[in-house]
Amino acid sequence: MEFDLWYLVALPALFAAGWLCRGFDRRQRSEKTQLPEHFTRGVALLLDDEPDKAIDVLVEACRLDPDLIELHHMLGKLFRRRGEFERAIRLHLHLVNRSDLSDADRTKALSELAEDYFAAGLFDRAEAEYRKLSEVPSEHLGALRRLLTIYTIEHEWESAIDTVRAVEAQTGEDHRLETAHFYCERIEVALRSKRLEEASKLVAEVLPYADVTPRVDHLAGKVALAAGSVEEAAEHWRRLARNFPAHTPLVIGELADAMAALGQKDEAIELLRSALPEHPTADALEAVIARVTEWRGLPEAEAIAAKMLAAHPSLSAFNALVRLRAKANPEDEQTKLLSGLLQRHAQRFARYQCTHCGFLASNFAWHCLGCGSWDSFPPRRVEDSKGKSR
Ligand SMILES: [Zn+2]
Repeated sequence: MEFDLWYLVALPALFAAGWLCRGFDRRQRSEKTQLPEHFTRGVALLLDDEPDKAIDVLVEACRLDPDLIELHHMLGKLFRRRGEFERAIRLHLHLVNRSDLSDADRTKALSELAEDYFAAGLFDRAEAEYRKLSEVPSEHLGALRRLLTIYTIEHEWESAIDTVRAVEAQTGEDHRLETAHFYCERIEVALRSKRLEEASKLVAEVLPYADVTPRVDHLAGKVALAAGSVEEAAEHWRRLARNFPAHTPLVIGELADAMAALGQKDEAIELLRSALPEHPTADALEAVIARVTEWRGLPEAEAIAAKMLAAHPSLSAFNALVRLRAKANPEDEQTKLLSGLLQRHAQRFARYQCTHCGFLASNFAWHCLGCGSWDSFPPRRVEDSKGKSR
C-alpha cells in the first residue's frame, strides 16, 4: 500500500500542536494520557506499511480525544485516499453534525465531506455540499470550480455556462473556450432531440465564439443544413476552413455535398482535389474518395488514391487504393481478401490522440475523456500526425 510521506510528516506535527494546546489539565484526564502511545503506535504502523492497523490505532486516538479535529480530518483523508469512502463520509458527517464545532471547523468538515462525495462519484450529494460551501466567502471560488467540474461530468451544460460565467466575472480569467463548448454541447443535444428551433437559438448565442473553436461553425453549419439553409451551411464550413485550416478535413465532405446540392458539383470536385495536397490526411482522403467515386466513377477515385499514396505513403492511403481496386474488380478474390485484411489492420491505427494526456479515441472528439481538456485532439489520426505539430 502506497502512502504519501506528507501524512507521516503532517500527522506528528498536527498532533504535537494539538497536544500542546490542551493546557495543563492533562494530569486530571488520566485516560487521555494514553494518546501519545496511540499516536506513536499509529505512526510506527504507517511507517511499517500497515495502514489498516494504523487506522485502528488513530481511530482510538480520535475516540479518546474528540477535540483533536485536525486528527479527525487526517484520518478522513486517509480513508478517502484508500477508497474507504463510506468511513470517510461517516467521519465527516459526524463532525459536521457536532454542535460544539466552531464555524471554521464546520466549514472545513463540510469541505472534506464534499470531497468525499466527489471522490466516491456521488455527484448529486457533492453538488449539494458545494452549493452550501459556495455561500461561504472563503470557500466560494473553490466550490464554484468544483461545481463546474461536476456539471461537466454530469453534462449539465446550462448550469456549467452559468457557473463558468461566475468564475470569469470573479477572477477575470478567460473561459471562452469552455463556454463555447458548453453551448455546442447544448446544440448537439437539441439537434439529437430534433429541437431545431432551440438549436438555432443557441447557435445565435454561440456565434460570437466562432473565433475560439472550429466547433462553433461546424455545428452552426449542421443546424443550418437541418433547417434547410444549404447556402448558409456552406458559408459556415467555408469560414471554418478559413479560420481553422487544419480542421478542414472535418468538413470538406459536408461542404462538397452542400456545394453539389447548390448545383456546383464541378467546383465541389475541384475543392476536394485541391484539399488533398494541403491536408493529406486519412479523413480528407476518405471524404474525397467517397464523393469522387459517386460523382465521377471508380477510375478517377483510384487515380486520386494512387497519387496520394505516391506523395504521402501511408497505410490508410494504401488501404483506400486496394479497397477501390477490389470494388473495381469484384471477381478478383485475392484483392478482395487483401482489402479486408488491410481494412482491419488500418482500423487498429485509426485513433485520435489527446495532446495533453495522450488519451486515444477511436473517433475525433472535442472533449478528452482522459483529462477533461477541450479542443485537445488534433483533427487527424495518429498515423497522420507523425512528425507534425498541431
Ligand atoms: Zn486528454
